Amino acid sequence: MALLFISENDDPSVWKAELAKAIPELEVRVWPECGDADDIEYALAWNPPPGLLASFPNLRFIQALGMGIDPFLTDPKLPKSVPLARLVDPDMVRQMSEFVVHAVLRFHRQSTLYADHQKKRLWRQEAIPDTSGATVGIMGLGMLGADAAAKLEAIGFRVRGWSLRPHEMQNIENFHGRGGFEDFISGVQFLVCLLPLNESTADIINKDTLALLPQGAYVINAARGGHVVEDDLLGAINSGHIAGAALDVFRTEPLPADHPFWPHPNIHVTPHIAALTNPITAARLVAENIQRAAAGQPPDNLVDIRRGY
Ligand code: NDP
Repeated sequence: MALLFISENDDPSVWKAELAKAIPELEVRVWPECGDADDIEYALAWNPPPGLLASFPNLRFIQALGMGIDPFLTDPKLPKSVPLARLVDPDMVRQMSEFVVHAVLRFHRQSTLYADHQKKRLWRQEAIPDTSGATVGIMGLGMLGADAAAKLEAIGFRVRGWSLRPHEMQNIENFHGRGGFEDFISGVQFLVCLLPLNESTADIINKDTLALLPQGAYVINAARGGHVVEDDLLGAINSGHIAGAALDVFRTEPLPADHPFWPHPNIHVTPHIAALTNPITAARLVAENIQRAAAGQPPDNLVDIRRGY
């Protein structure tokens, strides 16, 4: 059996070494050196070129190298009969919650203001914002959103979440579906996007959404750049309606050097690092899924392609 590793972002040598520990007999080939296409039974892929996966007639399982699978949705030739699983690694969940908690607290505890005061050698104590009166709204209550919600709630924020279907979480108010969106977003001071990117969620943070947020709200996007209409967000920040944003993901990555987000004093830019796939923790999960596929069992974290996540 041969697995084809397809990624321009990840180091294949680390993956090869980690997978060899779990499945020594697995032959790992690294795209673009595929060898005989008939040999490829498994693909471990991030952002595969459109049409590539369809060129392996014996492909029986595709494992995404990340938690999101949006790059696969845009491949018109994606072999839909081949199971596609996403990577769900508790280590990435932890990383993402750290990012979100840090972003919320940085705004909430006025870090930019105090950095400015320090530059001026100004010793001035501002009132501490009321945490129990501040509402964090998390779009997407999946693996990432649910964990971040619980951690923010434990700190003392009021937390609400928005999902496709109803959820029950202790002390987290839940809204769902398009019908619940307006009630969800009204009154949110910190809007966090942790949705998958697909047709129903693209451009969801736009001027209409932003107008529903109260004056002085903050936006945190750690999901995908395609969720945000960038000009609308910039306009809302420049008008003073939105106080600031923490953005980890962008419509074009790397963020172009002349993009207005870079120099903006109220926008924190990070280079898509909220949660990174770690081969040391993830290879074991990938190996288990390959073994399941080899045994004819359904893989863990199977994606519903028609649903889009
Ligand atoms: P999950 O699939 O576990 O959760 C998705 C959540 O979004 C679910 O709660 C789902 O609702 C909800 N949802 C999906 N579609 C809609 C919709 N149309 N309306 C309302 N709610 C919707 O995803 P994860 O939490 O694992 O990951 C979320 C995304 O985070 C990934 O797709 C990826 O793009 C991004 N990500 C970003 C990283 C970074 O470093 N910046 C790292 C890792 C992931 P329901 O629960 O009802 O199904």
